[in-house]
Amino acid sequence: MFIFTDLDQIEGARKRAMREGLKAEVITLGKYRVKSKRTGEYYDVFCGRNPKGEKIVSCSCETKDDIPCKHAYVAIMKHIDLMNHL
Ligand SMILES: [Zn+2]
Repeated sequence: MFIFTDLDQIEGARKRAMREGLKAEVITLGKYRVKSKRTGEYYDVFCGRNPKGEKIVSCSCETKDDIPCKHAYVAIMKHIDLMNHL
């Protein structure tokens, strides 16, 4: 889990996601599913807010806390896109 502050923060994750051509499927607003190209496994990503109102992103993969993973990147992009169309 990490607190999302800005897009620069996820630049490294963006590069990894682009390299693998990852895509996020929408489960519902704020919940996404990303399939690993390498293992074929699905990871669940949650985009929302904590009680303090900070934007948080959590992924079911084994990425350490505070490090944005590539699954989170594609989920955040999908989430922003959906929010812009509400
Ligand atoms: Zn992940």
